[in-house]
Formats: sequence, structure tokens, C-alpha cells
Amino acid sequence: MTLHVPDFVGAVAHSRKASRVETFIRANQFDRPTLVIDPAQVAQNYRDLAAGLGGAAIHYAVKANPAREVISALIAAGCHFDAASRGEIELVLSLGADPAHVSFGNTIKRASDIAFAHEAGITIFAADAEEELEKIAGNAPGARVYIRVIVENSQADWPLSRKFGCAPAMVNPLLARAAELGLDPVGLSFHVGSQTRQAAMWAGPLEALAQVWDAAQAAGHGLRLLNIGGGFPACYGEEIAHPSAYAAEVMDLVRARFGDVQVMAEPGRGLVANAGMIAAEVMLVSRKSGDDLHRWVYLDIGKFSGLAETIDEAIRYQFVTSRDGEAAGPCILAGPSCDSFDVLYEKKLVDLPLGLTSGDRVMIRNCGAYTSSYSSVGFNGFPPLDVVALKPIV
Ligand SMILES: *Cc1c(COP(=O)(O)O)cnc(C)c1O
Repeated sequence: MTLHVPDFVGAVAHSRKASRVETFIRANQFDRPTLVIDPAQVAQNYRDLAAGLGGAAIHYAVKANPAREVISALIAAGCHFDAASRGEIELVLSLGADPAHVSFGNTIKRASDIAFAHEAGITIFAADAEEELEKIAGNAPGARVYIRVIVENSQADWPLSRKFGCAPAMVNPLLARAAELGLDPVGLSFHVGSQTRQAAMWAGPLEALAQVWDAAQAAGHGLRLLNIGGGFPACYGEEIAHPSAYAAEVMDLVRARFGDVQVMAEPGRGLVANAGMIAAEVMLVSRKSGDDLHRWVYLDIGKFSGLAETIDEAIRYQFVTSRDGEAAGPCILAGPSCDSFDVLYEKKLVDLPLGLTSGDRVMIRNCGAYTSSYSSVGFNGFPPLDVVALKPIV
């Protein structure tokens, strides 16, 4: 179906240069919410992060955006991968990733999937519990393992729960158990929390981890790999440092506490968020009563079809509409599904043009991460987010 919609003429006033995805969205029609992604930008992000991370191995966290074109662009750029499931392993290997460059970083793995990964040539696994170490030893004998540690005091916008990692006091017993099981316990990992906006926010967690690390070395574990996880931020409106500068600052903090240990990083968001924009549409604009203070703007995309990170209004996306430049005012922004939880922003209202009406096109900036991967089921009959990747630049 082709939509009859006004174009984005009103928004050209933006002083910033339109990205390739923005140009593509302006020039095309979409009959459903569509994430347009630029693999060339993903490759550029990889080079920017690599420049700041020095010799660290960069393992892309596949769940942030598993589009084949994203994976292929990263393989071509020299990126390694962190996979969380058999499906993600099969995906990256099918596109040509070297199994020696793939880590199996989920701490909760099915035994048969560990065996599959081992067969496929993957040699490094994460664990945070004795039972997981036993599964790894039984299905990937002799494998390298790193222990994931809980670090408190995250200042991230999308902090991670205590679901992953073990308390510092469990680390030495687990390292000892791994060795006893014939595994090769090579190091520790942690995750500072997703969308950690400033590099300085890494200092506390790194300090906490350094104490765990030192205790392990004092116990004779001979650790040699530090996995610093993800957390590299994307721009959702607030100013963030250039990725190279941010990564270099994190590495300075790492080097100050851990010397020249081998470092591995697992960026997800930081590699893909700014490479994608969603083309969406206004479904309805309404007020609930004659004297309702607030306009409600309903989009054709919501929490269940790509914008899950609006939960608790944690991630605040930026919207571009076909009426930008006209008078604007605050509104409550909601998704289309028949679930009252499907409200995107109501605690902090969103400023959108007052003339906005159903059928108007809306673009959502910097949403290449955790959108299509969170919308794999068509909840309430609204299709999962479509993905279109731009052709390579020739
Ligand atoms: C999701 C995930 C990442 C990526 O986190 P970002 O905040 O997107 O960089 C890295 N490591 C692990 C283990 C993850 O689960």
C-alpha cells in the first residue's frame, strides 16, 4: 500500500546535515513503521570506537540490532561478536564471522547450545554460577571462561538489574571451581549499564572491579582478560562525547587500574543506534474532553512494536515531523495497541507541532539499537518493525 502523506518539507529548516537514512526516508513512502539502517554508518562507528579503545577486541553485542547487513558490515570492518544464543551464533557464522572471534557471553546457556558452540569452534564463554561452569565443562571441555561480576552504583540511563553477574565474594570460589573442572578461567567481565552517558561514570564500577581482580590475582588465579562489556552511549538529544574520545577516556580509566591487561569490549548501542531512523506515522490526535489540557498523539509504533526502551521513559527519542517549524506544544505520546501500558511519554511531555494530524509522517532519530530486536512479535496485530538497509556507498 502506498500512503498519501505530506512530505517533510517543513523540516528542511534543520541546520544539521541530513544523514543518508534521513534522506532515504524523506524520498520514500512506507506503509508500516520501518527502521532504515545505514551499514556504512555502523562501520564508521566501529572505526571510531576502535580508535579510542586502542588494542581492545571489540565484540558487537548482536542483540542490539541483528540485521544481516549490520553483521556483514561489522565483519568487513574487522569486528568480533558477542552472541547470547544459538540463533545469534548461527547468524554471525552464516555471514562469515570467524568462530575464533565469537564469544558466547550469556551467563544462562542451554547445555546443548554450549555443545553446539564448541563444535562450531567457539572457545570463550561467560559464567556467573557454579552450575553454569559445570555445563560448560561438560559440553565445551577445556574452554576459556570469564566470570561476570555484579557492579553496583550504575549511573546508566538503562541500568541492568542484578539478573546477571555474581557478588564479588563468589568470584574466587568460581574461578577455583572452573580450574578444578578443567576449564581455563581467563578473566572477569562486568557491564556498567546501558547508555552510560559520561565516561567518568565508569570510574566507580571499574574501581569496584579492580578490587575483585586484585583479590583473584592474590589468590593465584593468573587472570589475563578484562571484559568491560557495553554501555557506550548514543545521542538522544543530550550532548555526548565523540565515541573515540569517550572510549579513550574509558581506556585511560581501565589502564590506570588494570595496567596493560588484555581488554575486550562488547558495545551494542554505541555501534548501531545512530545508524538507524524509524519512519512512522501519526494515527490519531485527540483530546479526552473539551477542556483537556493535553493533546494525545498516537503513533503507528509503540512499546510492543519497536519502542520498548520508552519503558519508564528511560530512553527519550527525538522526533522529526513533517510540520517542524510550525507552532508546537506539549503532548502525551502513545502507541497504537489496545494496551494501556502502550504510552510512550506522559510523565515528561513531548513538544510536537500543534497542527499535527493523522497521516502525518514522523521520523524517530538515532534508534538503530534495541528497536527491531525488541519487536519480533506482532503484538495486537501491529506488524513487527520492518527493517530496510541502505545499499553500500560505491
Ligand atoms: C546487551 C549487552 C551488551 C551491550 O550493551 P550496550 O549497552 O548496548 O553497549 C554487552 N554485553 C552484554 C553481556 C550484553 O548483554
